[in-house]
Amino acid sequence: PYVIAQPCVDVKDKACVDECPVDCIYEGKRSLYINPNECVDCGACEPVCPTEAIFYEDDLPDEWAWYKDAAVSFFDEV
Ligand code: SF4
Repeated sequence: PYVIAQPCVDVKDKACVDECPVDCIYEGKRSLYINPNECVDCGACEPVCPTEAIFYEDDLPDEWAWYKDAAVSFFDEV
């Protein structure tokens, strides 16, 4: 799946939400989260993010790799 990383925090622009064909981007307290079980890897969200916060999971910068686990945890808790 695609993953939303640090640049989204306290921004939550939501341009990605309008692009996602399966509506799998959800709002958290300080960031948006992509549900990894629903994302179909279409990539539509990535180019529209004004803060370039979205990455394919394997392309996450090392320092933000943990956002992949953060998304899993977010949806485990809902
Ligand atoms: Fe939605 Fe496609 Fe982005 Fe996955 S890659 S979150 S399906 S827009």
